[in-house]
Amino acid sequence: MIIIGLSGKARAGKSKLCRELYNAAEKLGWDVFVKPFAGPLKQYVANDLGYTKDNNPDKYREHCQAIGAEKRKENPDHWVSLWYKDMLDERKDEMRHSMRPALYLVDDVRYNNEIEILKSNKVKATLLFVKHGLRDIEDPCGEWRSHESERISNKLETEKEEVLKEIYGFDFVVHNDKSEEQITHWANVFINHLSSNDPCLCEACTAQYEMRAPDPDKIDAELKKFLDDIPEEFPDDE
Ligand SMILES: [Zn+2]
Repeated sequence: MIIIGLSGKARAGKSKLCRELYNAAEKLGWDVFVKPFAGPLKQYVANDLGYTKDNNPDKYREHCQAIGAEKRKENPDHWVSLWYKDMLDERKDEMRHSMRPALYLVDDVRYNNEIEILKSNKVKATLLFVKHGLRDIEDPCGEWRSHESERISNKLETEKEEVLKEIYGFDFVVHNDKSEEQITHWANVFINHLSSNDPCLCEACTAQYEMRAPDPDKIDAELKKFLDDIPEEFPDDE
């Protein structure tokens, strides 16, 4: 089972990347599931209260925010635990019925405890932070952006990439400001990387997984290290 978690400012293009990863994995014959952390909350509001995004968008949003916050106040891990349980159930079912590799996509990583569970030994997800780069995002100053669920991604957006990786545990910082074609290509490269037994994490490869230009200084440093590692004289075969 492979799990990818995507975090980033709202409208940075997480669902777009998620769709492309979905298609790329499906092309390889994998079973793909989208499992957002908001799933159990949305399900609760739809099944128990009867509101959906389609039948009553205002009430739906209102209840999602209120009940989400209320339960989180009682127990910060309430929704994360439901998500985890749900995923295990699905996984068990899945293992009984399919021999194909399974990919779970979590496209709404917003809270610290969500990052924590994804990085834990139980889940071991690959964690992506999505930056919109130079591409404009919709409604950059909208009031909804100040909602508590957006607070962490807004803060993370301003952090340096090394901090995102070393302190927060993100594996890759993806620069989502390229053309449709490049994004599709990226998704294929990324899924191949995840399915490899011996994935390469050199600067040139990492740059590909992050949709950015390689850093020439890092490449120089890698080259230097490589040359330093070659013994001056090869032992004689004879
Ligand atoms: Zn490489």
